[in-house]
Amino acid sequence: MANKNKEENKLVPNGGYPMHTYEDLRELFYVYIKDPKNRELVKEAYDLAAKKHAGVFRRSGEAYIQHPIEVAYILAQLQAGPETLAAGLLHDTVEDTDLTIPEIEAQFGKDVAMIVDSLTKIQRMKLSHRTEEDFEAEDHRKIFLGMAKDIRVILVKLADRLHNLRTLQSLKPERQKALSKETLEVFTPIAHRLGIYKMQSEMEDLALKYLEPEKYQAILDKLNERESNRHQSLNNLKKRIADLVFEQNIPFRMESRIKSIYSIYRKMYLKQYNFDEIYDVLAIRIITHTVMQCYEILGIVHATFKPIPGRFKDYIAMPKPNMYQSLHTSIVSGDGNIYEVQIRTEEMDSVAEEGVAAHWKYKEGSNYNAKEEQKDIEDKLHWFRDFVSISEDDNGDAKDYMAALSNDIFNANVYVFTPMGKVVDLPNGATTLDFAYKIHTKVGDSAVGAVVNGQMVPLNTVLKTGDVCEIKTSKNSSGPKEGWLEIAKTSSAKAHIKKFIAKNNEFLREETIRKGYESCLEAFKGQDIGQGEMEKMLDDKVLSHFGYNDLDGLYEAIANRNVTPFAIIDFLGVRKKEKSAVMLRHRDSNDSKNPVYVDGIDNVAISLAKCCSPIPGDDIVGYVTKGKGIAVHRMNCPNVAKVMNRTIDVHWNDDLGISTYPVDIQVYSTDRPSLLADMLAALAAKNIAVTDLKVHLIQETMNDVIAATIYVPDARTLEDVFATLKGVKGIYDCKRIIH
Ligand code: MN
Repeated sequence: MANKNKEENKLVPNGGYPMHTYEDLRELFYVYIKDPKNRELVKEAYDLAAKKHAGVFRRSGEAYIQHPIEVAYILAQLQAGPETLAAGLLHDTVEDTDLTIPEIEAQFGKDVAMIVDSLTKIQRMKLSHRTEEDFEAEDHRKIFLGMAKDIRVILVKLADRLHNLRTLQSLKPERQKALSKETLEVFTPIAHRLGIYKMQSEMEDLALKYLEPEKYQAILDKLNERESNRHQSLNNLKKRIADLVFEQNIPFRMESRIKSIYSIYRKMYLKQYNFDEIYDVLAIRIITHTVMQCYEILGIVHATFKPIPGRFKDYIAMPKPNMYQSLHTSIVSGDGNIYEVQIRTEEMDSVAEEGVAAHWKYKEGSNYNAKEEQKDIEDKLHWFRDFVSISEDDNGDAKDYMAALSNDIFNANVYVFTPMGKVVDLPNGATTLDFAYKIHTKVGDSAVGAVVNGQMVPLNTVLKTGDVCEIKTSKNSSGPKEGWLEIAKTSSAKAHIKKFIAKNNEFLREETIRKGYESCLEAFKGQDIGQGEMEKMLDDKVLSHFGYNDLDGLYEAIANRNVTPFAIIDFLGVRKKEKSAVMLRHRDSNDSKNPVYVDGIDNVAISLAKCCSPIPGDDIVGYVTKGKGIAVHRMNCPNVAKVMNRTIDVHWNDDLGISTYPVDIQVYSTDRPSLLADMLAALAAKNIAVTDLKVHLIQETMNDVIAATIYVPDARTLEDVFATLKGVKGIYDCKRIIH
């Protein structure tokens, strides 16, 4: 075994395959490319590639230019157009020499440059160097397709890979295995989906040879043995069928072929068949002119040989997803052997072998231009049906398939790199914020910006394939914001942001409830009612009067100033001091609890804005909030001036019972001893409750600014209070404040 490996590792130019010269290539493409301009384009590409790769040799010993010539040769066998051939010749120049994409574009045009550029990017990703943990095979394929964008890129890449596989024996065993594995995971499934059977089966057999050398050899040996045994039997069968078809005057040609080694390997080792159980090891293919003749030949075969039940498949009436068409049947020959018989037209045969490439063959003519090459492919891309899971009954034309294909496959994902070179796949349109969340939710939550390709950008920047992205985070970030839901495109990021905001709102609500509780307690303490007693007093009767289901709701309403603690104190009738004249107004039959009403609208949630704390007597206006009912502001509140287009007329509810409203004030005074005591005494004398008192001494002027929330029933009372305060020694001004 060791000896055998050594043998295989011997350097053999071009893997022992015949080496082609540019003249060989020319001979091949001159058959179908006639326009001198197009012929010149390929020649120029060859000359430039030869010049750039000059003096460089492959591991196997031949000049480097041999590789691009062979790649172009494989493409010319598929009758690729001039630009694809030129790109095939130039495909390694940007990666391996000093040639640049702009230089290629200047000399060969946009398309050749685009194909070489895409191939260079794919090459740089060096997929096969990545470890298994980095990617699933499916991701490999997606990344490749995402980078390819254009069918010609895929075909050049497949030709490149095929030639590399043919010359694999000059590489080290671990590279042989890695490239073989990648070929089976990434490239042969794509070749299969494109229906390019020729390339698919050759690549599969070569890859298997390196991955499972012993099994490969065992199958090869069995096939050789089997073929020599059956040689006579096969020839007899072919002759009998040929005579019968000929008698009916049906034009035909006949081929016999052995299934690929890889397909036998799959059946034996993955589907657990015995070699002898694989009926269709030997197949006869009959190729005729028309579909009708296919069925005629089938009739002749079935009339003469016994078909095996369940083995007949009509892929003409029901093509395979990659548009493979053929009739398949298995029959027992006169001597008891089983054969598969495939019957198809010439066109079906070329589709079966070359798939998309069969339709993609370069056609030169007066109405043909180079750009048509891609369009022609797009028009005929029925094969991509299974790429885009379009249902069987969808009868849209090929263009629709291509459009769906472009959107769903080529453009469905963008692949972005971390600074460490890890690939992050995101849906098309994804932003730097999505990238941040894909890295880690913690990175997303603390993201403040990003650096894309060295440039500082905001979190709503849309990413492109190939971008290198780094997320900037900050410990001081307040976390996801409502607006991020618009920026994030991935559902996972959106879901996380939503959850975070909901949690945050829950936290804020608890905070609000706590604040409401505290201002309620402060007001009750002002009436010499302690915590325990207050909590007992706030019973179901209180809750139902003010219209809340639980205490949390009531406290929240207090914090939001929909209910004042003094309204509760008055309702409970526990105010210690005589009520002022203003407060003695009678409760009336109107049982609306809202201090403000909106014309024509009942049962709307109303809150008094905290910024300007309106009180009865103020000119007020309603602001229609998003989802929180109507916020009532003072007409002169600057916050509402900004949104005048969403305001609504509101009126004070004069029928509402006695109530007081919080007003935030600032009192200005020169600093002196017992100022605060005198000020509170003056307010107490007017029966005005005070909460949230804060004193701030301004050092430079030795003045005090006292902030407080006082509770008054209306604007007239407030004016009265201000006059009283200004009568206190040292106080020179009082103001309502708007936050
Ligand atoms: Mn190459």
